[in-house]
Amino acid sequence: MITALFADRAENWARYEAPLHKAFAEKGLEVNLIRSTDTPEAVDYVIYAPSGPVSDFSPFVNLKAVLSLWAGVEKIEGNTSIKVPLCRMVDEGLSEGMVEWVTGHILRHHLGMDAHILGQDGVWRNDVVPPLARDRGVGFLGLGELGLDCAKAASGVGFEVMGWSRSLKSVEGIETFAGADGLREMLAKSQIIVLLLPDTAETRDVLNAEMLELLPDGAFIINPGRGTLIDDDALLDALDSGKVAHATLDVFRVEPLPAEHPFWAHPQVTVTPHIASETRPSSASRTIAENIRRGEAEEPFLYTVDRAAGY
Ligand code: NAP
Repeated sequence: MITALFADRAENWARYEAPLHKAFAEKGLEVNLIRSTDTPEAVDYVIYAPSGPVSDFSPFVNLKAVLSLWAGVEKIEGNTSIKVPLCRMVDEGLSEGMVEWVTGHILRHHLGMDAHILGQDGVWRNDVVPPLARDRGVGFLGLGELGLDCAKAASGVGFEVMGWSRSLKSVEGIETFAGADGLREMLAKSQIIVLLLPDTAETRDVLNAEMLELLPDGAFIINPGRGTLIDDDALLDALDSGKVAHATLDVFRVEPLPAEHPFWAHPQVTVTPHIASETRPSSASRTIAENIRRGEAEEPFLYTVDRAAGY
């Protein structure tokens, strides 16, 4: 019998218990799914969330893998008590949700929707027609599981899509960049920027004052990645100077974003409370079950974190 410890907040147990059992059954796995244990040496897998009760993995001496329910791993990748593979969440539901959120916010800015939604004052203003998507450059920082799906969706709408990643990618219909010079080149052509990078030592403050200055005047920034990717003060300066027309931010250095933070009241900032996309229990449970199946069959795990790279 396989033993898996569900180490997330109590309220998530109700959301995950049935989908996990269903996914295990679909894979033909007999799993003793538990929420706490007095015999940690019997645990084969920890199904982990940063908000859950486990942070010291050393009692789990026979552990085969840590299976995270979260896509972002900055809160766990440096945990030195993990001596086994650490797998992050890749979930089709999470990806679909992110594609919808990102595409919606790109289109909001591209079409200038706010002018009509917020400015309905009886005045017939028909003098501003948005350009076609094909004439708008959209640059994605991060072409991973989420960034690539979002970039492909934007390309499908017709945008001139560009993407920057650590290793240079080749993707049909998307102009790709890597390295410091590649980032500069892409930013200079991106009227809309979408950040879907992980939080690592290398990505922190990637959008700093110098990089923001490279953007076309009146650019839009959409950040569902991590708050640490942007230098907040530099962004506020860029908004005030008009270099950046609007920033839609879903993630912040401190969450919840403190009530006194200037982003809340800034007319050119939209704050959303880290809701861009969420792990969906039914599809996420299939990812967990597949990795347990692989562990039992001694096949390589999917979506293992590169602890040296930090993501
Ligand atoms: P992923 O598959 O690991 O992709 C990360 C991408 O970033 C890859 O393309 C990677 O390049 C690139 N990258 C990493 N370090 C870089 C560097 N130093 N320079 C240039 N590119 C770099 O991650 P994912 O699943 O797409 O998720 C991305 C992030 O989204 C997560 O880390 C998390 O922070 C965030 N997220 C947010 C929400 C939300 O609701 N707001 C939900 C889920 C996830 P390579 O392709 O070369 O490796």
